[in-house]
Amino acid sequence: MILTVTMNPSVDISYKLEQLKIDTVNRCENYSKTAGGKGLNVTRVIHQMGHQVTATGLLGGALGRYIEDKLSSEGIAGNFYPISGETRNCIAILHDNGKQTEVLEKGPVISAEEGAGFLKQFSQLLDDANVVTISGSLPEGISPEVYIDIIRKTHEAGKKVILDTSGSTLATVLTSGNKPYAIKPNLEEIQGIVHETIDEDNVEDIKGILSNELFADIPLIVISLGAKGAFVKFEDAYYDVVIPKIKVVNPVGSGDASVGGLAIGLSKELAIEDILKTSMTLGMLNTMEEKTGHVNPVKFQDIFDLIKVTKV
Ligand code: ADP
Repeated sequence: MILTVTMNPSVDISYKLEQLKIDTVNRCENYSKTAGGKGLNVTRVIHQMGHQVTATGLLGGALGRYIEDKLSSEGIAGNFYPISGETRNCIAILHDNGKQTEVLEKGPVISAEEGAGFLKQFSQLLDDANVVTISGSLPEGISPEVYIDIIRKTHEAGKKVILDTSGSTLATVLTSGNKPYAIKPNLEEIQGIVHETIDEDNVEDIKGILSNELFADIPLIVISLGAKGAFVKFEDAYYDVVIPKIKVVNPVGSGDASVGGLAIGLSKELAIEDILKTSMTLGMLNTMEEKTGHVNPVKFQDIFDLIKVTKV
């Protein structure tokens, strides 16, 4: 079983408007509300692939219950720690021929007791998991120490953990003594923590960045490169992963889907080449769907067979 951790989930509201009018009322007929947050995208994709998954994290208030109901209506098992604050809304307004205006609530403030209570619950859930994924940002009141604790507990239990976060949270974890088994930064995220610009087409450039002390002792590093696939360091070897051209419908959430693929590959103890192909296939399948964090498993094998993994 895969256990996914989402510490700062949201109800994602999408409003489609022909034109966004400022300082007046906008009436909207075309809208959707989904259980959002990067970790919930990871969860959905794993579930849609028919693999066992449990989602955990923090949920509170009516919006927290809304997320639990949405997940259970999709047949997804959730085991969240209840908080006294209210889970947040994140609003995206799609308007004026391709413009996107977002309003992101900061979300609830978590108490020290709630943080400790979550970690206790996490330890119990860990018994039934063989792989853990950690995705996204942290709510106020929770320090990156919680991610470090999750990683330590998972490794002490002899299990693998994938961390997908960015900025100072990622940098703090990578300078700690408890590094994850795997990370999946995109180019922007990796440049953000090493404070250098990388030429994504220059293998030596990427290898140079990966020799940074921050990445020492992380067995699997997948730098995802959008339509260009990925560049990977696994143990002491480097891999170039080339993917075929496809028709992209909506690329949002592809990184999350590719994390879901890594988790499935690790959970099934596949060979590294097949773990990488599974990851890329799910990233690609996500881009082919309108809905964020959705894949069509029927198309899996055809795409998988077209991906090339080469040692470089
Ligand atoms: P993130 O969403 O974290 O920025 P990427 O954009 O690198 O991550 O996407 C993750 C994976 O999804 C890629 O490695 C690739 O497999 C797939 N993907 C993303 N964008 C495209 C695209 N335009 N064409 C084909 N595959 C894509």
